[in-house]
Amino acid sequence: MSNPIVEPIEQLTGTCHCGTVSWRYSAEPHRVTACNCTVCSKAGVLWIYGTEDVDVAVHGKTTCYIRDDHGDLEFHHCPTCGNTICWRLIEPKAGEKRQIAVNLRLADTPEQIMHLPVRHFDGLMSFKETTGSGETVRDIWY
Ligand SMILES: [Zn+2]
Repeated sequence: MSNPIVEPIEQLTGTCHCGTVSWRYSAEPHRVTACNCTVCSKAGVLWIYGTEDVDVAVHGKTTCYIRDDHGDLEFHHCPTCGNTICWRLIEPKAGEKRQIAVNLRLADTPEQIMHLPVRHFDGLMSFKETTGSGETVRDIWY
């Protein structure tokens, strides 16, 4: 028995269910984030983080949701099928490019990302990373 060979990821793409909106991620993701805040848990998303117009591009018109309690992020959805596409910082820090994260659940080729470690983030209470579980995407995919 040998371990499957994991090819380096040079580019990932994701598309919403109806095909209206897509994203392109042009970096090697090292981990994915599962967050338990009320927005992320209800949407069932997995995030990979990047920088807008550097290693992440989103194509297609979206609708935007900003939570009214502590809204420093915009959550973008497909206006047709409703899939969660990405979040992006509303106000990037001065002199910095905008942080953005795309929803890995929309990956066009999920087999590319099954080996990536999952980072659990407690966005509900402490706003800190919780202890690593050793899980990979494969363990929690479905
Ligand atoms: Zn759609």
